[in-house]
Amino acid sequence: PELAATIDSLIRDVPDFPKPGVVFKDISLLLDDHAAFTAVVQALADAGRDDSGATVVDKVVGMEARGFILAAPVALALGVGFVPVRKPGKLPRATYAVSYALEYGEETLEMHADALAPGERVLLVDDVLATGGTAAATAELVTKGGGTAHALSVLLELSFLDGRAALDGLPLTALRTI
Ligand code: 5GP
Repeated sequence: PELAATIDSLIRDVPDFPKPGVVFKDISLLLDDHAAFTAVVQALADAGRDDSGATVVDKVVGMEARGFILAAPVALALGVGFVPVRKPGKLPRATYAVSYALEYGEETLEMHADALAPGERVLLVDDVLATGGTAAATAELVTKGGGTAHALSVLLELSFLDGRAALDGLPLTALRTI
């Protein structure tokens, strides 16, 4: 409850960004606050721990771009490596790609083909779960890469967009749900 209140106080609604009709949740003030950023990273990392506090994942995957900011420190907190999932054409070596439908058009995400060792358990980390398209595509990339998606950990779930339904049963931890 304390963390939820902190998150609420440091997230700003930005109307009509990036396009008219969208209310964008801006997390930059939260990142700007060391105590809040630290608490958020620890709480996101808990999704990759068991009840005794032991790390139960082998890698943390973060989605471009704000997912990187959260996923990299989560990986360090858990004592595991970080894997970037990126927009097309950004990763320099051989990749797997997954495309998914947007409201208008299509988006593709890529992950390096050799990023995961066979059977590695992966924690997915992003800032916001909206429609779930990004998270579902990332989980598919993890599977293509030979890994197993363990859970998804996000700062904020926009429940009115029902992203949870797109996750195909992948366990979700949201530090805040609105
Ligand atoms: P989805 O694929 O679930 O519809 O959208 C989630 C992705 O879009 C995440 O990678 C997230 O960073 C970005 N996103 C969508 N809406 C917002 C928002 O209101 N605020 C922020 N910070 N990111 C958003």
